[in-house]
Parts: sequence; C-alpha cells; structure tokens
Amino acid sequence: MAGRRTGRGMTGVGKGFTPANSNTRISSGAVTRSNNAPAAPTGSPSGGNLGLNSDRLRHAMVQRLRAQGIVDERVLSAMAVVPRHLFVDEALASRAYEDAALPIGHGQTISQPWVVAHMLSVVCENRQPVRVLEVGAGCGYQAAVLAQFVREVHGIERIRGLYDLARDRLRIQRLAARVRLTHGDGMLGQPGSAPFDAIVVAAAGLAIPHALLEQLSMGGRLIAPEGGAEQRLVLMERTGPANWSRRELDAVRFVPLRAGIQS
Ligand code: SAH
Repeated sequence: MAGRRTGRGMTGVGKGFTPANSNTRISSGAVTRSNNAPAAPTGSPSGGNLGLNSDRLRHAMVQRLRAQGIVDERVLSAMAVVPRHLFVDEALASRAYEDAALPIGHGQTISQPWVVAHMLSVVCENRQPVRVLEVGAGCGYQAAVLAQFVREVHGIERIRGLYDLARDRLRIQRLAARVRLTHGDGMLGQPGSAPFDAIVVAAAGLAIPHALLEQLSMGGRLIAPEGGAEQRLVLMERTGPANWSRRELDAVRFVPLRAGIQS
C-alpha cells in the first residue's frame, strides 16, 4: 500500500491493519514538516493504561499541529481536550495521538489529526458557526471536537454499527445533547435542520452533492474531499441564493462517500 504520504513522510498506517483509505493528506504542500511525534507511553500501551499518559500525548499532538501550521486556537484547544484514544479501538489506543489515520471498523478510518484540524480551521476561518453538519460521523471524534466550540452539531453516519459506536462514545463524553446524530444518508444532508453555517464532509464523492450546497446558510462554508483515485479538499462558500465560490485545496485520500444506508 504505497504512496500514503503525510506531512511527516510515510507513517505507520500500513503495519498489519492498513485500511483501504486513510483520510489523510497525501501532499505536504507548504506545511512545515515536523518529526516531533510524541514518545510512546511507557509501560503497556493498551487503551486501558493510556489514561495517565493521554494528557501528555494530546499536548504533544497539539504542539505538532502548531508546528504543521494550524493556528486556530478554538480547534487546537478542542483537540487538546477531546480524548481521541477513547474514540478508537482499544487495541489501537496507544497510537491515537500519532499523525495517522486509524481504522474504526467496517472498512472505515478516523482521519489523521492534521486533516481534522485543517478542515475545521478552514471551514470556521473568520467566523463562528452556530449550526454545523458533519457528513460521515464515523466514530464521532470530529463531531466531539466540533462540539467544543460550536453550539449545535448535527452528525450523519450511514453505517449502523458506526452510528451506534459514535452515539455511545459521545454519550460517555457527555456530548450527546450537543451532537445530534442521525443514522442516514448524508448525501441528502438534513433539510429539516438546515441551514447550516458550516458543513464538513468526511468522505469523498466524485462531486459534492448539490443537496448539501443548498443547505448552507448565506456566507456558509462547506469543506469536502472530492474525487476518486485522486482527491482534493474543496472549499465551497455560499455567496448568494444560487451562487457558490469554489477553492481547491490539498491533495488527500478519504474513504468513499456512498449513497444509501447500511444496517
Ligand atoms: N469524521 C469521522 C471519520 C469518518 S470516516 C471520525 O471522526 O471518526 C468517513 C465516514 O463517512 C465513514 O464512517 C463512512 O461510513 C461515512 N459515510 C460515507 N458515505 C456516507 C453518507 N452518504 N452518509 C453518511 N455517512 C457516510
């Protein structure tokens, strides 16, 4: 599984549990490369034992994100408090703070921390969104980060098993009231709760679904990976009732956006 480069060069995503896709950045762009990955925790690195070390590891992750060019303090503070190791499988908890995408089951992956930080920074730049939609809630991590600084987060996940997982994790983190999760097809958005000040799509479609663009508030922003084998992050901003501006950003690799639901 070659070619999955990140800002730090090849990461260890490929050891034994390589996901089909990695929700990762594949070109380093202008972002500073950094090698100050957090040291592995001492002792047994099982999820159960990570608790004592997780503050330190999260702090190191945030320092690394700063070194990689993330400047939005809302995003950095949020990522400094959300226990990412509790959102991934316990067997992988010791790797939760590496700059790597990790499998979350059902063939899906949690995006690498830089990708989460970058997408949220871009979509929230110079604005304070009040109502945000996340398409592809996965294990709930990104929704939990958003919920630290956004009043109303709506998340949609199409795979029942992941929806259940995200709901449980968010409940444990006491974020269930802040994040309204739905098991459904996020390509249709959530018309009943629209308009959204921001929409974050965590899976790549060949084109951004028009239904999502229609559910943006005026001035609202959507960020999504777009493409098939080659993908780019695309930032859309609603500039009028039937007008959107479009900017292409980093090369990335995400799991595919699929229509319909999986029970
Ligand atoms: N943001 C997630 C990572 C999600 S990976 C996290 O923090 O864990 C992308 C997710 O998008 C997968 O769980 C996949 O099942 C979901 N997905 C793909 N197509 C979808 C669709 N049409 N509607 C809702 N979710 C979708």
